[in-house]
Amino acid sequence: MSIVVQKYGGSSVADAESIKRVARRIVETKRQGHQVCVVVSAMGDSTDELLDLAEQVSAAPPARELDMLLTAGERISMALVAMAIAQLGEEARSFTGSQAGVITDDAHGAARIIDVTPGRIQSALDAGHIAIVAGFQGVSQTTKDITTLGRGGSDTTAVALAAALDADVCEIYTDVDGVFTADPRILPSARKLDVLSMEEMLDLAANGSKILHLRCVEYARRYGIPIHVRSSWSQRQGTWIKANPYEGEDAVEAPIIAGIAHDRSEGKITIVGVPDRVGIAAKIFGAVADAGINIDMIVQNVSAAETAKTDISFTLPKGDGPKALSVLQAIKGDVEYADLRFDDTIGKIALVGAGMKSHPGVSAKFFGALAEAGINIEMISTSEIRVSAVTRAEQLDDAVRAVHTAFGLDSTEDAIVYGGTGR
Ligand code: ASP
Ligand code: MG
Repeated sequence: MSIVVQKYGGSSVADAESIKRVARRIVETKRQGHQVCVVVSAMGDSTDELLDLAEQVSAAPPARELDMLLTAGERISMALVAMAIAQLGEEARSFTGSQAGVITDDAHGAARIIDVTPGRIQSALDAGHIAIVAGFQGVSQTTKDITTLGRGGSDTTAVALAAALDADVCEIYTDVDGVFTADPRILPSARKLDVLSMEEMLDLAANGSKILHLRCVEYARRYGIPIHVRSSWSQRQGTWIKANPYEGEDAVEAPIIAGIAHDRSEGKITIVGVPDRVGIAAKIFGAVADAGINIDMIVQNVSAAETAKTDISFTLPKGDGPKALSVLQAIKGDVEYADLRFDDTIGKIALVGAGMKSHPGVSAKFFGALAEAGINIEMISTSEIRVSAVTRAEQLDDAVRAVHTAFGLDSTEDAIVYGGTGR
């Protein structure tokens, strides 16, 4: 019997009616002859609501307690989904992440899965039960404390379980029909993609697309788990994400462009007047790395001949701005730079497509579209299959629209957003 892992996002289980609808879908899958393991997110925006509550009682909630609090959200939905399934005459058993064998490191709020030991899930499936697992959580191997995997982490729970159970597919149910050429919430003319390669999805997720958690895609690629992203409201085929959709048996031609991701969650730090000496960049980025901050784009220019000084800019998650500024302050005497600036009103747009490798002119068209829309570019970075730019935050939506149209990605049909608040 084949094993199917299904993950339902928060908007798909936002209220009692939705939970009943999802339960029917799960039972249908079981009755088609599959063993079904389901991963659920917290209902609707309840994770955000729990975070708001924590902020009201504490300026800096202890990380261990915050994880304890947030994991309650997924426990609520797992039990309700199990009850709704029982009501339909099938047996379901719900499990916390810890009970499901999701073992992580001890990085509260951003834990990494280091092992999955799904013995109890396998036994439940073998007994003919439907297993429901709370997403986004695990248990630390060292401290035995409850951990969370980072916002959006239920996707990663699902793929990790799919790998551990040797499932045929990991279905990710969400509030749109699949992965689109751009976020349909800001661009209704975005087009649904039928297939996408793992590497394209990785770049989209790493550059702000929230449709899938980045780690989930990394995990799926490593273990060769195909992902099917689709809507829990419709029966349509969604987007299949596979290792090599453009090669082999049922290959399709690789499109030049897969899609556009955008990100408003980053800020930019500029270090002004940095002396042009060996080892300076290593010092700066060493200090930032030691503070546990993940940086993204970096720009350094050649130094001006008269001064032998240059500016270095880099982007990082907005919330890490203050911490980065303070570690950079601490090395000011050592590095001897002139000034520090932090800008938290930037936006980032990324154009991704495997076909870029073999098609010249993509960057030229990208910059041309931004220029025509009157959008100034502050930073640029590229990879083999991506070109990205930093703009003013308030111009980001216009940037996405302009580039989408320039590359002929607009659909004549409006994308459907079935639910969710996009919060
Ligand atoms: N409930 C968590 C969040 O809102 C995890 C998830 O939905 O994947 O981030
Ligand atoms: Mg999500």
